[in-house]
Amino acid sequence: MRVLLAEDDDGVAGALTEALYDNGHLPARVRRGEDVLARHRQADLLLLDLGLPDLDGLEVLRKLRAVSPLPVVVLTARGDERSVVRGLRLGADDYLVKPVRLAELLARIEAVTRRATTPAAPAPRTVRVADVEVDLDARRVTVGGAEVRLTTKEFEVLAALAARAGTAVSRQQLMDEVWGDAFLAVSRSLDVHLTQVRAKLGRPEVLTTIRGFGYRFGD
Ligand code: CA
Repeated sequence: MRVLLAEDDDGVAGALTEALYDNGHLPARVRRGEDVLARHRQADLLLLDLGLPDLDGLEVLRKLRAVSPLPVVVLTARGDERSVVRGLRLGADDYLVKPVRLAELLARIEAVTRRATTPAAPAPRTVRVADVEVDLDARRVTVGGAEVRLTTKEFEVLAALAARAGTAVSRQQLMDEVWGDAFLAVSRSLDVHLTQVRAKLGRPEVLTTIRGFGYRFGD
């Protein structure tokens, strides 16, 4: 299993990397929260230290959960109940307080992964609003039955909105999802892509701007 390990302490990271490797996993270690947001798509599980140099681990978790169901085990020196509860509420699958016993960590990784592989109900993959149809699997968009050609990024912006049709999606979330990382995304390029998508669809009423927040596809 590909385990992304976010840990700024070299000693801890070295010991964990070795233990993971010895037990048949493929660990990849990063030091900063931003690296987690940029690389989570290449992992099957995230081991997340909360005390990272750039971002608080709970903030990393919140941003990650906005875009990904990746199993997360939090590793931290913070054993106080409030941090544990906050971590779990933000979507951590498990929580281990340092110093971690390696056998226990490996067992918990296995348990979390077992739960995560239980198949969820498939989400509807074709979204229709008025006469605009977005097929998320085939990556096709039609308006009134005629295909509309979007660039890759334009489609991804529209798909991110269509996957939650009828719900307001924040700019931050769109940028996280389409560009993989809101830190790297230029806010203006989101506007440019949305303007293009609107122009190509020719149905201004299906894409609503929610001032100061984000956008919504459908009612
Ligand atoms: Ca740390």
